[in-house]
Amino acid sequence: DYKAEIIAVGTELLLGQIANTNAQWISKQLAENGVNIHFHQVVGDNLARVSQTFLEAQERSDIIIVTGGLGPTDDDLTREAFQMISGLNLVIHEPSLNKIHDYFKKHDSEMTSNNIKQARVFSGAHVLTNQIGMAPGMIVEFKGKSWIFLPGVPSEMMRMFSDDVIPYISERTGQTHLIKSMILRFIGIGEAKLEYELQDLIRKQTNPTIAPLAQQDGLIIRLTVKATSNDEANELLEQCKGQILQRVGDFYVGSDNETVEKKALFMLKQHKKTIAAAESLTGGKFTETLISVPGASEVCKGGIVCYDAEVKRNILGVSLETLQNEGTVSQACAIELAQSILKLLKTDIGISFTGVAGPHTLEGKPAGTVFIAIANKQGKFLVKEHLFTGDREAIRRKSVRKGYDMLFK
Ligand code: ATP
Ligand code: MG
Repeated sequence: DYKAEIIAVGTELLLGQIANTNAQWISKQLAENGVNIHFHQVVGDNLARVSQTFLEAQERSDIIIVTGGLGPTDDDLTREAFQMISGLNLVIHEPSLNKIHDYFKKHDSEMTSNNIKQARVFSGAHVLTNQIGMAPGMIVEFKGKSWIFLPGVPSEMMRMFSDDVIPYISERTGQTHLIKSMILRFIGIGEAKLEYELQDLIRKQTNPTIAPLAQQDGLIIRLTVKATSNDEANELLEQCKGQILQRVGDFYVGSDNETVEKKALFMLKQHKKTIAAAESLTGGKFTETLISVPGASEVCKGGIVCYDAEVKRNILGVSLETLQNEGTVSQACAIELAQSILKLLKTDIGISFTGVAGPHTLEGKPAGTVFIAIANKQGKFLVKEHLFTGDREAIRRKSVRKGYDMLFK
């Protein structure tokens, strides 16, 4: 079993000025190709610390992937650091040097000795052409370990990785298995309840593994399978999905990129229904998510953000009686909003959101109190009071999710 390690070099990573997206991207590629990643490291542009980091990696890993620090500036130290631990010579790579020469000629500017630095490679290295930028990458086999040096610039790194590194690693590891994931999306069920329903499955299932996760856009289960072929992976994933849906299929939305808004759109389209939303605390979020799905125009006519009580009164025609006796955060107000928006925008369905996003109470109601109503042309309606927890953003997001949930019922 080959152990891989990723080392990202760059002080701006340590300072939090940029996120280490290179490591994340590389990890995903390696995982999909069945390579185990044991460590991620980030180290600043400091010769002693970079070489120390390299030394550790040489001890404990088989495939070491380094990104960054191959450029022309003084803080680009990756070559020097590896030279310190390996004692390998650096030589000029003629094709790379010519490329740099040409670049400067074409742009009519002076080439400095710094730029020549970028063309230096370890003797015996397998040089990886940079299709986008200047500095070439390298694969160096040193004392039984594979060192792969890639530029820090993500586009350059990705191109090199896909073109040259993946084929190299597959050959090196004689890789016969791959790792594949599937996401199952759920709505209308809590995390605890979902886990409870699947407890024994989660515990005894090892391939694929089952991991429930509460995410921003709802509850998901991630299945991860190890298999020898794509077909085998798909079969194992489908089998496991089937077992899960037998228990909690009622709350299933879709897999991978089948989101709740896509499902809502699909369902409304199937029933040939149009919808419009009157949104107070959600500020248009519901309409926004729906319209983000291609093909929304057949289903969604639009909406009105009725944040202020005056707008509820003057534009949406909520009755004075309701506003004075019940308030804007009330069942009655939600119903009137839903009924009014469907009439105003001439749709089959109207949905409304009114509540207290927080952090302060409103009309004597605590933050998180939200009324959602759904009305249809036949004069029927459904209205529910909810009490959501979390900060303002979370309450608004949960309101939108619950709106979809109610729509499915
Ligand atoms: P250059 O020739 O541009 O100097 P380099 O190989 O020396 O390339 P760095 O100088 O370390 O690489 O990084 C170049 C740029 O690439 C950084 O400014 C940053 O925007 C991006 N970058 C570097 N490392 C990472 C990383 N780990 N994740 C995401 N982006 C990165
Ligand atoms: Mg650099």
